[in-house]
Amino acid sequence: APELSPAIAAGEREDETTLRPRNLTEFVGQGRVREQLELVLQAATHRGAPPDHVLLSGPPGLGKTSLAMIIATELGRSLRITSGPALERAGDLAAMLSNLVEGDVLFIDEIHRMARPAEEMLYLAMEDFRVDVVVGKGPGATSIPLEIAPFTLVGATTRSGALTGPLRDRFGFTAHMEFYEPADLEQILRRSSSILGVDLHPDGAAEIAGRSRGTPRIANRLLRRVRDYADVRADGAVTRDIARAALEIYDVDALGLDRLDRAVLTALVRSFGGGPVGVATLAVAVGEEAATVEEVCEPYLVRAGMLARTPRGRVATAAAWSHLGLTPPPEVAG
Ligand code: ADP
Repeated sequence: APELSPAIAAGEREDETTLRPRNLTEFVGQGRVREQLELVLQAATHRGAPPDHVLLSGPPGLGKTSLAMIIATELGRSLRITSGPALERAGDLAAMLSNLVEGDVLFIDEIHRMARPAEEMLYLAMEDFRVDVVVGKGPGATSIPLEIAPFTLVGATTRSGALTGPLRDRFGFTAHMEFYEPADLEQILRRSSSILGVDLHPDGAAEIAGRSRGTPRIANRLLRRVRDYADVRADGAVTRDIARAALEIYDVDALGLDRLDRAVLTALVRSFGGGPVGVATLAVAVGEEAATVEEVCEPYLVRAGMLARTPRGRVATAAAWSHLGLTPPPEVAG
C-alpha cells in the first residue's frame, strides 16, 4: 500500500475507533461465533461469575479486537489491553495481572507471540488466579505466590496453531472467525458510510464489498479511498463506476487481491513454476517476512482458491495462473 503521512494514518486510526461496533447487535456477520459467545456471556451474567477465558482466532481485521471490547461492554466490566510482544518479561505480565480488579476483562492481542516465561505465568493465572513471583537469582531465588483477582482473559491470535497445547487448553471457548460474506460486508459498509457521511450507492457498496478480501477492516479502508476519489474527481457519490475507477488506482484487483497478494502468486508461478515451494522461500522472493505471508496473505489466497498448502509446500492452483493471465501447465490444469 502507498505510504501514508502520519496525519492521515492517525485519522484512519481515529476512523477505526469510530467505526467499531459497540455491542453484539452492531457486530455484523459471524453468526455462529456471535451465538456461541452470547450464550457464554449470558450464562456468566446469570451465574454472577466471570465467564471462561475466550480465545479469538482468525486473520487480521476480522473483528477480534472489536469482539474483545464488546465482551467487556456486554459484561459491564473494564477492559485492559496488552499484546504478546509487549509482554517480553514475566514481570511485565505480573504487574498487569496484579493490577486487575475482580471481573476485569484482560485482552492480549497476538497472544501467540508472548515470551515463554510470561506464557508459563499465564497458565497459573488463568487456572488458579495466582502468580508466582520469583524474587532473587540463582540458588537463593524464592518464589512468592500472589493472589490475583478473578478475571476473564480474551486472547486473540492469527495463528492458533502456534499456541502451545497447555495455553490452548486453558481457554474455555475458542471462536474461529471466518472471512465475511459479501452481504455482511455491504451491511458494514452501509453502517460506516452513514457514520462517515458518505453517499454510498448500493452498486458502489457491492463493488467495494466484492474487493475487500472478506475483511471488514479492508472494506472500511477501501471505502475511505473511494470516498477520496469521489470527492476529488466526481460529485461525492460512490457508484459502481466510481468505486472501480478508484480501486484501480489503489492496485486492488477485481478479486480484491492487493499488490502483496499478487506478488506472492506471481513469484510462486514465475519463479517456482507454480510450486511446491516452502513459505520461507516464497517470503524471501517477495521481500516480506514469512509470518506476514503466512498470516496475512495466504489465508485469503487459500479461501479464494488461488493457493493450496500441501505437505511439500505452497502450490498455485489453475485459478491462480489464469488470474495472472497465464496458461497453467497441463499437470495443474488437470
Ligand atoms: P482484528 O482485531 O481481528 O484485527 P478489529 O476488531 O480491529 O480486527 O476490526 C477492524 C475494524 O473492522 C474495526 O474497527 C471495525 O470497524 C471493523 N469490523 C470488524 N468486524 C466487524 C463487524 N463484525 N461488524 C462491523 N464492523 C467490523
